Amino acid sequence: MIVYEGKAVFEGIAIGKLSVYKKNEETVKREKVEDVEAEVARYASAREEAVEQLQALYEKAVKEVGEASAEIFEVHQMVVDDDDFVESVEGIIRTQGVNAEYAVAETGDNFKKMFEEMEDEYFRGRAADIKDISERIVRILQGNGGEGIASDEPVIVVADDLAPSETVQMDKDKILSFVTVHGSANSHTSILAKTMNIPAVITCPIPLTEEVDGKEAVVDGFEGKIYVEPTPEVLAEKQKLLQTELEKKALLEELKGKENVTLDGQKINLYANIGNTKDLGLVLKNDAGGIGLFRSEFIYLGSSDYPTEDEQFAIYKQVAETLAGKKVIIRTLDIGADKQADYFQLPAEENPAMGLRAIRICLTRPEVFKTQLRAILRASAFGKVSIMFPMIISVDEVKEIQGILAEVKAELDGEGIAYDKNIETGIMIETPASVIMAEELAKEVDFFSIGTNDLTQYTLAIDRQNQSLDKFYDSHHPAILKMLKMVVDAAHKYGKWAGICGELGADLTLTKEFLAMGFDELSVSPGRILPIRKIVRETDVSAYKAGK
Ligand code: PEP
Ligand code: MG
Repeated sequence: MIVYEGKAVFEGIAIGKLSVYKKNEETVKREKVEDVEAEVARYASAREEAVEQLQALYEKAVKEVGEASAEIFEVHQMVVDDDDFVESVEGIIRTQGVNAEYAVAETGDNFKKMFEEMEDEYFRGRAADIKDISERIVRILQGNGGEGIASDEPVIVVADDLAPSETVQMDKDKILSFVTVHGSANSHTSILAKTMNIPAVITCPIPLTEEVDGKEAVVDGFEGKIYVEPTPEVLAEKQKLLQTELEKKALLEELKGKENVTLDGQKINLYANIGNTKDLGLVLKNDAGGIGLFRSEFIYLGSSDYPTEDEQFAIYKQVAETLAGKKVIIRTLDIGADKQADYFQLPAEENPAMGLRAIRICLTRPEVFKTQLRAILRASAFGKVSIMFPMIISVDEVKEIQGILAEVKAELDGEGIAYDKNIETGIMIETPASVIMAEELAKEVDFFSIGTNDLTQYTLAIDRQNQSLDKFYDSHHPAILKMLKMVVDAAHKYGKWAGICGELGADLTLTKEFLAMGFDELSVSPGRILPIRKIVRETDVSAYKAGK
């Protein structure tokens, strides 16, 4: 047995096989080959396998997201067999006498550049597809043809670090736990683990090699340890712990269907945070009162091109219908910083967290923003949808957004398309500027939802992605707690409601404090809803305030 220790970011026990996550970015070396025709044949069989993989992906996507969204995989299959692409690869192999991996990577780069330089926006958008396809063929040639997790049974995923665009593509049913060598406690991988209610350990010096790949292991998300090939004693002890966990969860089941009301009658809404439609099962299973944060950017991260209005509409409609009249707050595109999609072609930045991200992208690319707003508005005819805007810093910004929203509504009116005319609009409070301007902002919107992840980062001047700063990232900092109170008070002064959708909202040690501050809503990972409900129902808010 070997024990590795890291930092636990979500508690729980997982027992299963380790699977080292294969990054897509294997380096490609240029190597001379003796037999060029054998190399050309190796390329031909890799192409065949790529087409098979893409066909399987197409079929999976049709089932999960529908025909329209799945089409991209059909297009990819065509590109694999595109004559110009194939001729270029074969030409490089034959004329330079080099390996197929190099020839494919080189052709991929050349074609990508060529598409990027085209006038037509549609063709420019295809550049990212070319990259995806050439990387797929290279992975197959390198004998690394899997889609990240090469296993049919659920596994413990071990990786160097995981980008949101990688986690979004993973088959969530196959993941028991995440273990990463790098990563910060506030990264989206940690958030994903919380959403999935599975243990996660970060900054763990585990080797990403055969030494652990495929081995039996236990992840203890309480102590932040990974036991590789555990002794029978350790295994038995952890199995017992796992059993206790399951029993605790079963006890929480009894709280389903019960109200979120304190002993002295104060009510609070407990909503769920989701990243995509696959999380809907968890929302229903955990008896959420609604969705308080739908991170819509995950739709963009999961695509290889801008999702169309119809594709987005289908997703938002599905969420609205599934929630059957319960509130669904869709946050508009919050891309940038750690959430990157190649086709946006965002410039490299010195300080991405303070860069072109979220609402700033929407306001500089109104066509992208309007497409999303149209899709959300159309979906609002099928349930109770609200729109929320991220990263707001000023009243002027909100006025500009409302202006764009009004234009989109007028367009829909002109086309006779139905939507909820009274759709609620709100903003995320996640910059210190928005806290200071909360009273003025409260006059412009229907609600506030506090993004404590970013608010903490910007208030304490601590990059949430920087793992070496985790010990300084104090989300209980008095400045943050004071800001929370300022925001609720400002909202209530103007008759608006206020909630928290950042990770702090799920901090059980603060539930009583949030009730005392007067929050109307907490939006948390689905698995946190019942534990919070338990505390709410056991709290006497006036006694708590008196005892402070
Ligand atoms: C936040 O910043 O608290 C938030 C909820 O948004 P995200 O974590 O997606 O940036
Ligand atoms: Mg945020």
